[in-house]
Amino acid sequence: MPSGEATSLAGKRVVVMGLGRFGGGVGVTRWLCEQGADVLLTDLDDEARLAASLESIRDLVRSGAVTLRLGGHNVGDFTTHDLVVANPAVPKPWDNRFLRAATAAGVPITTEIGLLVERLPAGARTIGVTGSAGKSTTSAMLAHALRAAIARGLAPNPPRNVHFGGNIGGSLLGALGTISEHDAIVLELSSAMLHWLGDGAREHARNEHFRGGWSPRIALMTNLAPNHLDWHGAFEHYARSKGAIFAHQRDGDIAIAGSPEAAALFADTGAQRIELPPDEDDPAWMRDLRLRIPGAHNRRNALMALTGAACALGCEPHALVRTLDDFEGLPHRLRLVAERRVGAGVVRCYDDSKSTTPESTLLALRAFEEEPGVGADRVHLIAGGYDKGVDLAPVARCAERIAGLYAIGATGPALVAAAGERARREGRAHDCATLERAVAIAIGRAQPGDVVLLSPACASWDQFTNFEERGDAFARLVRETPPGGA
Ligand code: ADP
Repeated sequence: MPSGEATSLAGKRVVVMGLGRFGGGVGVTRWLCEQGADVLLTDLDDEARLAASLESIRDLVRSGAVTLRLGGHNVGDFTTHDLVVANPAVPKPWDNRFLRAATAAGVPITTEIGLLVERLPAGARTIGVTGSAGKSTTSAMLAHALRAAIARGLAPNPPRNVHFGGNIGGSLLGALGTISEHDAIVLELSSAMLHWLGDGAREHARNEHFRGGWSPRIALMTNLAPNHLDWHGAFEHYARSKGAIFAHQRDGDIAIAGSPEAAALFADTGAQRIELPPDEDDPAWMRDLRLRIPGAHNRRNALMALTGAACALGCEPHALVRTLDDFEGLPHRLRLVAERRVGAGVVRCYDDSKSTTPESTLLALRAFEEEPGVGADRVHLIAGGYDKGVDLAPVARCAERIAGLYAIGATGPALVAAAGERARREGRAHDCATLERAVAIAIGRAQPGDVVLLSPACASWDQFTNFEERGDAFARLVRETPPGGA
């Protein structure tokens, strides 16, 4: 899909559906204005709730480039414009009455990622990463490995530049002018984005070249398990959307699956297929992998990322194995944020605030359990938060075998109650209410060699705006809390 074949947007009247309280629609709105489009920005939320996002496009509203329709949508807007750009957060878009009205009126619908991929230079190496878990980490590792390989001269045929975006890292639309056919573009693709690049493109795009659907030249799927069913309605739709990453590949492309469930979605195309071996059969060269972030799942993500990077560079993955030595992990995903000196040793503090389910907290605990010389009994776990009605007993029961459970937020009392009589009696389960108090008590009790881990198993909304704010607060507290804690 060479650039230039995408239709010009100059003078077009475009509806942007969904600005988002966290600014998801800001990048695309600004870019559309730069292309000379007249933008009508509409959102179900009102001005007060969107205040932060609106602030970042105030100049465009003031200049008249953007008109606002907030606090609800108007069906007439969707039928009388030249193009609708839907925010991928809009659930079940095929059922949405406004988008249906646009379709009925013959108005094409696209998304930010659709606008991007139809403008990427034809020769560029596009690498897409999806999966139910590990997308962000794998795609960040992949971009890191590519950049390190270029810097260290490890690749026979290196791309000139590496661009990284998609679901993580913000919009790449603004960078289009700097992307050449000699570059590599790493995109993290969510199932909602992939819906819009697959079925959504076929049904709603007007661009002839994009209409068939789009897949990256190198496509990776880490794993597949039920997720985002509120958006998709059913697992089958979720899996089908994910499958779009492989579905439109061409001869010479490469499809990589990290699990049998992911490999089951390989499509009947001319792409070469690579299915990674199961965990226990890691290739021998993985012995040379040095990762700063713990956990077997992260080693898996690294295997996936190095396989993908090697395909993009035309070399063997083992040639790249040391490119991840200095990969520090992504914020709030089991990342080391402080090492506190205690007596003759250190206490390591890990921020895993992204964990909002019991499964991810158990995965984080397992990462330390598997680490030689650590073990679960050295872990002080801070967990709890907003009550989604999920059964937290599997996390609470860990209090039996870890150094301490420090419960916070709305689910704190229930966590401590479920922790078990022995843990409570032995003072290893504490209802701390706040993160401040939890950190103070945990730091006060931690011994040299121990780990203080924030892995809440719950959303943050009862006490924080989002998981990022919660993780940042943890990082600050573990650095500032005086020795001896509470
Ligand atoms: P995503 O972008 O798919 O949400 P992330 O890389 O942000 O994935 O990781 C989010 C969480 O998912 C991690 O904190 C960890 O709990 C879990 N996770 C990461 N990689 C894997 C994996 N390969 N298999 C299972 N779970 C994983």
